[in-house]
Amino acid sequence: MSAVNLLDFDLDGLTAFCEQLGEKRFRATQLFRWIHQKGATDFDQMSDLAKSLRSKLKGVATLHDLSVISEHVSSDGTIKWLFDVGAGNAVESVYIPESDRGTLCVSSQAGCAVGCRFCSTGHQGFSRNLTTGEIVAQLWHAEHALRKRLGTSERVISNVVMMGMGEPLQNYSALVPALKVMLDDHGYGLSRRRVTVSTSGVVPMIERLQNDCPVALAVSLHAPNDALRDELVPLNRKYPIDELLTACQAYLTAAPRDFITFEYCMLDGVNDTDEHARQLIALVKGRINCKFNLIPFNPFPASGLLRSNNERVQAFARILVDAGIVTTVRKTRGDDIDAACGQLAGEVQDRTRAAARMLRQPVAVKVALPKAGERNRHTH
Ligand code: SAH
Ligand code: SF4
Repeated sequence: MSAVNLLDFDLDGLTAFCEQLGEKRFRATQLFRWIHQKGATDFDQMSDLAKSLRSKLKGVATLHDLSVISEHVSSDGTIKWLFDVGAGNAVESVYIPESDRGTLCVSSQAGCAVGCRFCSTGHQGFSRNLTTGEIVAQLWHAEHALRKRLGTSERVISNVVMMGMGEPLQNYSALVPALKVMLDDHGYGLSRRRVTVSTSGVVPMIERLQNDCPVALAVSLHAPNDALRDELVPLNRKYPIDELLTACQAYLTAAPRDFITFEYCMLDGVNDTDEHARQLIALVKGRINCKFNLIPFNPFPASGLLRSNNERVQAFARILVDAGIVTTVRKTRGDDIDAACGQLAGEVQDRTRAAARMLRQPVAVKVALPKAGERNRHTH
């Protein structure tokens, strides 16, 4: 029997595992703290566990760290790790330091099956879901590597965003225990408000997350109407905007924050006109408490799309703000090391032929192109 990876367990899971070994529940809490709070890699370090338990564990369990393929440090302090997850797949995590917080952007899948036009992960296709242990290991590795580097025993990462590679709500059963490890006071002790799941809109799973583990929710909207969103975020054909907004409204009844963040990737001439902004207002105003986070598109070669210019982004933001909607423009971090949103590519052994499919179906944004005179710059 192969050894069990202890990073796969939330505290309940670890407790059940310890009970199977004939150990008391509180032993699981001690073990959990050694692993996540102290970053122990070796059972012999766990000095307050009985020798008999330590030797039992050595026989049946491991702590499976991810092996680092590369680590890049940006001029702005952002760090990007490329982790090997086997069989030719690799995923990325990004640490973003700010004056009042340290955020880790975590991946949930090797690739992504949703296939959004403007996302380099989407262009790579899908290989497999990460395990809970692989999701948790990104945080475990980053937190303890950063503490060592900074010479501190204090917590470095205060926020986690599930905004790396993959669609977290299409890997629900591995995601939820990983979130629980992040939130657990004996684990990383992160506040629910500081753990964000970002989704392209898997409606039934938004409903489940609301009950199982409500954390902050970001929804990748990217378009104000179904015709355009169908093109940009293909999952919209299954779960259209109206259903998505209904799920968001319901989520707010349990969420740790009283708003949903809508992410909106600004694509030149595609979704960035004044009319698009007005449609967004009509969509959400009076219906859902939300904030908009405008993300200037981070280009990558295969996309064939361009970033809206700064004036356009500002003008778009202004229309939303004037309608009373809190709107921020996301600062680009780490773009000198390809660590910005949508640039995470890792390595994906595509099993879905996504790249070939996208080449056969070039972006068909004509359905929603604005009327003449409304576009800021002609690019398509
Ligand atoms: N799959 C999830 C989380 C990962 S992507 C989701 O789609 O929400 C995190 C955010 O980056 C999403 O809002 C995504 O739409 C956005 N994004 C993807 N590609 C981008 C790009 N090239 N430029 C800017 N933002 C991008
Ligand atoms: Fe997947 Fe999110 Fe990229 Fe869309 S934006 S392809 S859902 S990772």
